[in-house]
Amino acid sequence: MKDQPPEGLRYPWDTAPAEGEAIEVAPGVLWMRLPLPMKLDHVNIYALDEGTGWTVIDTGFASKRTRAIWKTLMQGPLQRRPVERVIVTHHHPDHVGLAGWLQAEFGAELLTTRTAWLFARMLTLDDQERPAPETIAFYQSAGMAADVLARRRDERPFNFADMVAPMPLGYTRLRQGDSIAMGGRTWDIHTGNGHAPEHATFWSRDDNLVLAGDQILPSISPNIGVYATEPMADPIGDWLESCERFAGLARADHLVLGGHKLPFTGLPMRLRQLIENHHGALKRLLAFIDTPKSAGECFAPLFKRSIGEAEYGLALVEAVAHLSHLYQAGLATRDRGRDGAWVYQRKE
Ligand SMILES: [Zn+2]
Ligand SMILES: [Zn+2]
Repeated sequence: MKDQPPEGLRYPWDTAPAEGEAIEVAPGVLWMRLPLPMKLDHVNIYALDEGTGWTVIDTGFASKRTRAIWKTLMQGPLQRRPVERVIVTHHHPDHVGLAGWLQAEFGAELLTTRTAWLFARMLTLDDQERPAPETIAFYQSAGMAADVLARRRDERPFNFADMVAPMPLGYTRLRQGDSIAMGGRTWDIHTGNGHAPEHATFWSRDDNLVLAGDQILPSISPNIGVYATEPMADPIGDWLESCERFAGLARADHLVLGGHKLPFTGLPMRLRQLIENHHGALKRLLAFIDTPKSAGECFAPLFKRSIGEAEYGLALVEAVAHLSHLYQAGLATRDRGRDGAWVYQRKE
């Protein structure tokens, strides 16, 4: 994730809700936050007032601390009325983490896209003590630094089940082009791709609200990576297609309620920035691969800053995504280099 200046964007609230508290960002729409134990240290969640209870958007990691905060929220801002529906924007653990818990403990109905549900459930069931051989091969293909690879080989990898509560069978599918009634409004559903496949976003027909998840964020660009599950995916191409499509829907007065950072207005400009950032990164990368380079060698032109240990994995999958996009667009060649890594070179 890269930091960017917030030019042209407006942030109606300069501070986020405190732990266990909510800010009403529009009539019947509450904004709340849950902590994450990472550099990006929070996720935003929202609750929409249904009169009898609530529809909540996203859920946080499944941790003891987050469950306790949820209970505080239920007693406080949610006024002891039930969570009737839980909407998950995409399958990442900070968003889906407690969906299964809200289903199992509180009887909430889960609504999400089919891809998000299948991915989340598959990954929570895929318990790994050590990285799968396909993952190690994928890291080697990406040119992961030898010391990092040696360490990862012998470590328990990130397991979805460590951060995502068990997911019971059964959910309600959300689709591109559907609409849904929530919080006294009708919302059009538009799905995006690139950050996560079939990521749901919700566009109110009745006022200026957009529930964007991680598809559109202010001040940081969502991570876009390629993984061993689909090594020839082209999430950069998918991402650009989504941004261009959403640009046709975006209004300057839209209040964007995203999964991280602050609510903002200025969506048309933000989408342009996100598109230009990737075009800029691809251009710098193309100039850099005048001689063959693996993904692990491409952090400098892509990120323009040094990458620490904690960010290494995200940086690597993002570098693979950009190089593979150039390769699949016919702008670069790809050959096996030393140590079995793919090395990419600009076509003359
Ligand atoms: Zn995400
Ligand atoms: Zn997120």
